[in-house]
Amino acid sequence: MKDIVPAPPPIVRDDAAAIQALFQQNVMPTYGRFDLVLSHGAGSFVYDVAGKRYLDLGGGIAVNTLGHAHPAIIEAMVEQARKFIHVSNLYYHEPQGRLARALVNLIGPGKCFFCNSGAEANEGLFKLARKFGHEEGRFEILTTLNSFHGRTLAGIAATGQDKVKKGFEPMMAGFRHLPYNDLEAMRAAVSPATAAILVEGIQGEGGVTPASVEYLLGLRRLCDEKRLLLLMDGVQDGHFRTGRFQSFQRLLEGAPGGEAFLPDGLSMAKSLGGGFPMGAFWARGPYADLLGAGSHATTYGGSPLACAVALKILEVIERERLADNARQVGATLKTGLDELARKFPGVIRQVRGLGLMVGFELAPEIRNLPGDPAKTQALRFVNLLHTAGLLTIPAGAQVIRLLPPLNLRPIEAQEGLRILGEVCSQAA
Ligand code: PLP
Repeated sequence: MKDIVPAPPPIVRDDAAAIQALFQQNVMPTYGRFDLVLSHGAGSFVYDVAGKRYLDLGGGIAVNTLGHAHPAIIEAMVEQARKFIHVSNLYYHEPQGRLARALVNLIGPGKCFFCNSGAEANEGLFKLARKFGHEEGRFEILTTLNSFHGRTLAGIAATGQDKVKKGFEPMMAGFRHLPYNDLEAMRAAVSPATAAILVEGIQGEGGVTPASVEYLLGLRRLCDEKRLLLLMDGVQDGHFRTGRFQSFQRLLEGAPGGEAFLPDGLSMAKSLGGGFPMGAFWARGPYADLLGAGSHATTYGGSPLACAVALKILEVIERERLADNARQVGATLKTGLDELARKFPGVIRQVRGLGLMVGFELAPEIRNLPGDPAKTQALRFVNLLHTAGLLTIPAGAQVIRLLPPLNLRPIEAQEGLRILGEVCSQAA
């Protein structure tokens, strides 16, 4: 694997307070931000404006596929920008065509639509489902409790978590939520209005919970039987994070019938662009032409620049065997966390996940967790990790996620585990 040596921090000016003041005065307070002001990154590390180094195992919430400031991405961006950054989707250009072909080859026969984010990719799937059911008056999409599908109005209606909906009611009609991994509940919920089922292969924001083999295969059978579209949200768990292109491919490895499993639609974003904002959705052959000319569009979708970056990321993943790396280094992280859970049962209750999508659930009442008790344990634990030089991502009140770059090196995983061990022993 290509060595990524973190660059030395430049001479820094600690203007954290001034930068935070700019936010307080001018940026909407939609995010609960941590008290960190970052300056730059290199590989799996970021630096704050005071020059402190952090190992970034959060990966921008599963976005920074190749880490920070990867030379191949920089080169691809510059090279493409010299030709053109944007042309309208009124015209053809090579990078979009090549990227669509690459994604189709990785998923299965079908076609892609390009957009700019995960929420927008899911919006595309919702419209595909509406179009599919339209002539028969079917419009409803069944999703799962604890799911997350984005922050647009349809995204929060699809999401199975009340906290994202609060204050934005009435919710857009046409979504119902069923318990995850409960096939019988899903079967019982199908109504004459149902057009599609949407699930994540591994629930990310919901706390890193993988779907069972029986659930995925059962949903496929149910959708075939009832003529429903099976839609998968691969925004967070996709793009080789689990060791295969999509998590369902990894989850179903070795299961009878698993290799033949294919959803009817799939949304992608995050790692697809490695930090360059990008989303896409794919629809299986029979449904790939449902959204005809004039039915769906977005100005920036599949721009030459975004596609050049995404193509370069795919090239590096293949050349450097990063799917295998995600599998192996992910296993190191999981094994190390399992050991910490055994050693510190009062701190870590359970470890879940696959490849480089790993979550650990905190014990109900950790003894020595400093910070405002009004804040969740997950937030307070993440703060402790920051002090120790490690970035991670909370999921809900009790779970902490590791979603690092796919080129995370074994030695970096070991450093992360060492810091986690130190913080566990402090909190125990
Ligand atoms: N779907 C899933 C599974 C996600 O995890 C996310 C974001 O966390 C989204 C959709 C929304 O993606 P975006 O924030 O790019 O709109």
